[in-house]
Amino acid sequence: MSTIAAISTAQGQGGIGVIRVSGEQAFTIVDKIFKSVSGKKIMEIKGYTALFGHIYNNEEVLDEAVVLKYVAPKSFTGENVVEISCHGGMYITKEVLNAVIMAGASLAEPGEFTKRAYLNGKMDLTEAESVMDIISAKSKSAARAALFVKDGALFKKSQQVKQLLLDKAAHLSAWADYPEEDIPEVSEDSIMEAIEESISILEKLLSTYDMGQVVKEGIDTVIAGRPNAGKSTLMNLLVGREKSIVTNIAGTTRDVVEDTVLVGNVMLKLSDTAGIRDTDNEIEKIGVQKTFDKINGAGLVIALFDNNEELNSEDIDLINKIKDMPCIAVINKIDLEDKVDKKYITDNIENVVYISAKQQDNIDELKNMIEKIAGTEDFDPSAGIIANERQRNAIRNAVNSLYEAKESLAMGMTMDAITVSLQETIDYLLELTGEKAGEEIVDSVFHNFCVGK
Ligand code: GDP
Repeated sequence: MSTIAAISTAQGQGGIGVIRVSGEQAFTIVDKIFKSVSGKKIMEIKGYTALFGHIYNNEEVLDEAVVLKYVAPKSFTGENVVEISCHGGMYITKEVLNAVIMAGASLAEPGEFTKRAYLNGKMDLTEAESVMDIISAKSKSAARAALFVKDGALFKKSQQVKQLLLDKAAHLSAWADYPEEDIPEVSEDSIMEAIEESISILEKLLSTYDMGQVVKEGIDTVIAGRPNAGKSTLMNLLVGREKSIVTNIAGTTRDVVEDTVLVGNVMLKLSDTAGIRDTDNEIEKIGVQKTFDKINGAGLVIALFDNNEELNSEDIDLINKIKDMPCIAVINKIDLEDKVDKKYITDNIENVVYISAKQQDNIDELKNMIEKIAGTEDFDPSAGIIANERQRNAIRNAVNSLYEAKESLAMGMTMDAITVSLQETIDYLLELTGEKAGEEIVDSVFHNFCVGK
């Protein structure tokens, strides 16, 4: 396998930049372009020690650098690795990378370092995927969840099921293949038990998918309500900076304004929308239609009602539209006189909070309610969590095969048919962890990585 190199730190200005070189020839290649102050060669020094010196391009000094040596198999990729730390900045790091390439390394493809780590048995496929998740995590809980996957939480669950089924499948095959050996028959009850236990573990994992998405991607949240209810004010409060235009002329927020905020453990992808109002104004009409479209696709609706106004037909329409969705009714402007029909709102909507967006009263209560609805309060990533479509499909296929096995057993089919279904389940689990995954699957996993990882 060739020796690869890439810039592993983010592109842009920075104190230091790291160029990573991995492969059998890593030491000799870097020795060609690096001269240490002490005169020592990377080839000669012990693993996990560093040298200080200069990087050269032919006779020209490019930069000062520290090189760190990792010896196979004890490195991220499982190969010989040299990490060159030089000054940060696009120009220098690219020049140093260029020198490494001229000295014989080839440019790494996206995700190739992690792919090699996987191919060298350093991590399973679910762990590799979580490396990518850690890099792109935007919230604390997303990073925490990814770290748990990296620690093998999902892998362990999958191994647990695999072991349960392998025991039965192996026993069944032995019994079928060597009838003369007097192997005790496997009882149908014990097979059923193993199947049911496996289904229960996998179904539980499947149920983590939505939570995984919430934690990783955030919840699509719409702030809705009639003009002047206080939507922009609330949005600015949550986002913490001036984004939408706050005015007291009804209908000023014409378009959909979007932003991402972290509320406790939950990431919200917020859109503040044009107010819901019967209108003849063409531009406003488009805005109102957008609001309803947005509500249809939303994971959470925060509906604002003006405490200082009686409910009107648009408020009632909004209540009817959202009452069966995950939603919070926010009665705003509690600093002003009560005129709104609170009873009508509480009769129809389960979660109601009273706030003053302008005076920032009761905002914490609203935040707590958001966390409660998102269900992230008692989110436990150590129990194993599904991070993406690929993992979900593999587990879903495994569960489906288990249901087939269960049905065959209940219908009194031959043990052969059941063994086939169990084997199929095991294959899907091997695909999940990458212990037995086709090249196509492996490639598509690493395809989404950035270069340098
Ligand atoms: P939107 O049209 O729903 O986006 O409403 P805005 O956020 O633009 O607010 C409309 C007006 O109501 C502005 O003048 C705000 O300052 C005012 N407002 C918003 N929240 C409150 C509140 O809690 N109390 C009072 N008294 N006024 C508020």
